[in-house]
Amino acid sequence: MVAVTSPKMSAASEDYRFFKVVQSYIEQAAELTGLPAHIKTILAEPKNELIVHFPVRMDDGETRVFKGYRIQHNNVIGPYKGGIRYHEQVSLDELKALATQMTWKCALLGVPFGGGKGGIKFNPREHSKDELRRITRRFTHALGNNIGPAHDIPAPDMGTNAQTMVWMMDTYLNTGPTYEKNGQRAVVTGKTINSGGSEGREAATGQGVVHCIKEWARENRFDLEGATAIVQGFGNVGSNAALLLSKLGVSTIATGDHTGYLRNEEGFNAHKLQGYVQVNGSIDGYPRGEKITRDEFFETKADLFIPAALENQVGREEAMKLDVRLIAEGANGPINPEGEAVLADRGLPVIPDILANSGGVTVSYYEWVQNRNSEHWDAEEVQRRLLHMMRRAYQRTMFYAAEKRVNPRVAAYALALQSLATSYEERGIFP
Ligand code: NAD
Repeated sequence: MVAVTSPKMSAASEDYRFFKVVQSYIEQAAELTGLPAHIKTILAEPKNELIVHFPVRMDDGETRVFKGYRIQHNNVIGPYKGGIRYHEQVSLDELKALATQMTWKCALLGVPFGGGKGGIKFNPREHSKDELRRITRRFTHALGNNIGPAHDIPAPDMGTNAQTMVWMMDTYLNTGPTYEKNGQRAVVTGKTINSGGSEGREAATGQGVVHCIKEWARENRFDLEGATAIVQGFGNVGSNAALLLSKLGVSTIATGDHTGYLRNEEGFNAHKLQGYVQVNGSIDGYPRGEKITRDEFFETKADLFIPAALENQVGREEAMKLDVRLIAEGANGPINPEGEAVLADRGLPVIPDILANSGGVTVSYYEWVQNRNSEHWDAEEVQRRLLHMMRRAYQRTMFYAAEKRVNPRVAAYALALQSLATSYEERGIFP
């Protein structure tokens, strides 16, 4: 499948600096919480930024050198934790922002992990499965002891999946001491069930988004049965959110990915479309939908909008076009500051990324706990715990937002910051 991305198709603003945007949220939260200046200074930058270059033999016999990253933002609450992204737009700025967001996400949810993120700058769609396996193994080898079950625990993100995690785990186990093998499966989460993954992890991020939407609907006495949604990105997060929403009676009437956008006023069959994407790699060519432009996608009238692709997708123009009642951020950083200002003026509510998409890291934590205890929880157990965590985080965030008269994003950042600041105050600064 050929990627037809262009700046117009993929980004709302061309001079977007994601890390600066995340830092500005921290500033706002710090002001609100009266955080000591030295803690803000510590949290403003990642602890470690690792860049590796490694060679990989391609199927045609040529050797290509890849650039990989692992950013470790903070580990005051627990080991660094965060996804591995394979995408042609991967950059240091993007990964620093995403790693920082992970610190905030874990602190908000009360998951005892810190923040990390990594990735490789390349387009995984241009490679065979064999090449992807060799790229993943060499990357894991290059990361060496910079990852580990008690130190830094990667997970899937854009362009990676359970298979990628199993390759990472296997490489880590094979390059470590023999006596530790198997005890170290917790080095990555988001694995297949067979290789030590948790029930419910695959759909956990989409499930968390849907839990938040349900809480919002309950609070606002909004009936989800018969409601409509538009979903940008139909990968892991977007497709699972659409599928779980369909079980509540919500129809996804427009969607899009890196190949273009589709609309179906009757509602897509989320299960069939997810299956189509799993086989074909994108929504391109799916027969049950009319092709629309990116602008038409953003203009589609619906009840819910779930961005579940890249950051920086909703700028001023998109925010003015949106004709929905609620935005629940499945993606990290999908709304840029200009877009956010327009949405605030319009009074359009946003469930912020560090809350809405935190179901993934929460179930990753459950997977890590299960691996470390050699346990396997059943799906009901995972779902019961996830629902409890998501509800609690949602209620705390909305209560704080109302109390302090700030938007939920600033509230979520402030609550997380309080928890991080308390850890620093209790521990002091070494030596
Ligand atoms: P994925 O690779 O499974 O899917 C990504 C989707 O975005 C695909 O449909 C892809 O075609 C689409 N996309 C890529 N470029 C695009 C463009 N220019 N325009 C429109 N669509 C485009 O990735 P995912 O795991 O679903 O991640 C999606 C988002 O959710 C990312 O922001 C990621 O950081 C975030 N997230 C993922 C998880 C997780 O557990 N996977 C957890 C938290 C947050």
